[in-house]
Amino acid sequence: MNFDKKSDVLIAVREAPFRANKLQQNQSVIQFATDCKNTLVVNNAVHTFDAAFNSSVSQATLYETLVQPLVSKVLAGTNCTALAYGQTGTGKSYSMGMGAEPVTEQQMGILPRCAKDLLMRIPLLKADKENNRIPMQLFVSFLEIYNEKAHDLLSAEPQKPIAVRGQRFTGATKQLLSSLKDLQSLLELGAKKRHVRATNMNQHSSRSHAIVTFSVQRGHRVSRLNLVDLAGSEGVRRTQNEGMARDEGVFINMGLLAINKVLLSLTAGHAVIPYRESILTAVLQGLLSLCFTKLNYLFKPLFFL
Ligand code: ADP
Ligand code: MG
Repeated sequence: MNFDKKSDVLIAVREAPFRANKLQQNQSVIQFATDCKNTLVVNNAVHTFDAAFNSSVSQATLYETLVQPLVSKVLAGTNCTALAYGQTGTGKSYSMGMGAEPVTEQQMGILPRCAKDLLMRIPLLKADKENNRIPMQLFVSFLEIYNEKAHDLLSAEPQKPIAVRGQRFTGATKQLLSSLKDLQSLLELGAKKRHVRATNMNQHSSRSHAIVTFSVQRGHRVSRLNLVDLAGSEGVRRTQNEGMARDEGVFINMGLLAINKVLLSLTAGHAVIPYRESILTAVLQGLLSLCFTKLNYLFKPLFFL
């Protein structure tokens, strides 16, 4: 798809698939224009995005259209971020490929597809005459933000929240990545750490923000690709949750609202940007700011209906 846009921020939407168990017996309320791949119509209102995918879009097309171009940018030295935003159950984790369970090739989400491309393309770059003297390596880190605390899921240390000092994040454990099998083991390791707390917390996996970062290190230069699977965006009142679940909802919305505020401040050109209002924005600080000030960062939210 040729995005006719100068901005470094792109917004795409993917329709959630029909699921019989969700009592969605009626036809989808969304109509997609056949001749234009960036609009959809709901109750006669036309909504325009950079890209709009109906529920039949494949994981491969989603990746190739939206995220594969970011892999090329990261290999060229630019930092990029792809964010999945939407209500619980709409397919954010499925699309991002954040699950630790093995899936078929067709079902593979954005994360393993990125890893596959990076692993294939880095040796080709290394083989290039001009590049062969500079060592190039691929690292991965896996972070979770739960109840306004950041957890380093690949750390060998016992689980405790990592310091986001003065709410300025200094980094998580980076593991060398040399195969897709490595990635699978690291995801399983990370998922287990998330799962430990899940036994006590209801629906924990979707109650936290997950951030996987690929770092391409070339000599002293590092470029990063951040894949962010945000927690469900449903309002606290709507879920009618009480107690712990309600507190989780409050923290999640705090992070999501903070992202919104940061982006609005950046676009308005404010001198003071409210990064410190949440751990999520503190962790993403470098990426969100550079996206606007230097225009060499790509920040691409994926919205899911
Ligand atoms: P979320 O992360 O937004 O809460 P999930 O990604 O966990 O939602 O999706 C909920 C369920 O729907 C999962 O079982 C997932 O495998 C399935 N699912 C979501 N999107 C698709 C899709 N496009 N095709 C097939 N199954 C999907
Ligand atoms: Mg999820």
